[in-house]
Amino acid sequence: MKFPRYQLILISVAIALSFLPATPQKPLRIFISVDMEGIGGIGTSEMTRHGGKDYETGRHLMTGEVNAVVEAIFENGPAEILVNDSHGDMQNLLHQDLDSRVIYIQGNIKPLGMVQGLDESFDGAIFLGYHARAGTARGFLAHTGSGSVKGLWLNGKEVGEGGLNAHYAGEQGVPVILAAGDDVFTDQFGRLVKCELVTTKTAETAQVARLKHGEVVRQELAEATRKALINLKKAKPFKVSNPVKIKMRFSSTTHAEVLQAIPGMKLIDGFTVSYEANNMQEAYPFIRLIYKYVKS
Ligand SMILES: [Zn+2]
Repeated sequence: MKFPRYQLILISVAIALSFLPATPQKPLRIFISVDMEGIGGIGTSEMTRHGGKDYETGRHLMTGEVNAVVEAIFENGPAEILVNDSHGDMQNLLHQDLDSRVIYIQGNIKPLGMVQGLDESFDGAIFLGYHARAGTARGFLAHTGSGSVKGLWLNGKEVGEGGLNAHYAGEQGVPVILAAGDDVFTDQFGRLVKCELVTTKTAETAQVARLKHGEVVRQELAEATRKALINLKKAKPFKVSNPVKIKMRFSSTTHAEVLQAIPGMKLIDGFTVSYEANNMQEAYPFIRLIYKYVKS
């Protein structure tokens, strides 16, 4: 059989192309922030506290959740993953048991705390082990930043740590693609951000949780990660409008009074202050400074 000349040319081009190396896939850049209260299998505050009963088990469970997510990300293709320890002294993950393909940020003297390292170069952010905001009924170990904060509002919207971090990621143009924690957290966060959610446990009370086995949670996280990556192109960063109006309510009037030393800080009532920041880049370290270092 004789091929017409143009077909022969097309066939030779196709053969030539098949020998060219495939263009390497650009690695996906994923930022993972890991808190501890919302990790599956953690059912008491003791497990989240250095020196507390079963804290070591808590660290293993926390590390296991990160590894389950990381494994699912690499199944999808090449990736660059930055993991930021986001609980307490931020030295909880067992680094040598973490998937060796990730880069890990440890320690808590960092201006951006739970979002340290998150910038516009990332394709998506994942929040693991998260909890409901301060004062949420039944929220397992619910708080916002520290025990001195009774409420935090950004542009009139009440947020917890998840909401605050989603605002920061949003300003960087990075969508939150997956978040995991107790049922009160996933319900609360799901109202603010549309992303994959994994409910790691059901809160019985603010101090007691109904637990699934860690292995079950890790499988659910892997499955949710796969789904999040399939839908990555559709994921939208959280929209933040500037300036950012911050309102914070504290457990003591002293806290609110001491903060009046900061120019621009207004007293709303005995427990509550407000401040206007130009953007989240400015607001985030400011809020962290207030809840972490201003004591009353
Ligand atoms: Zn927390």
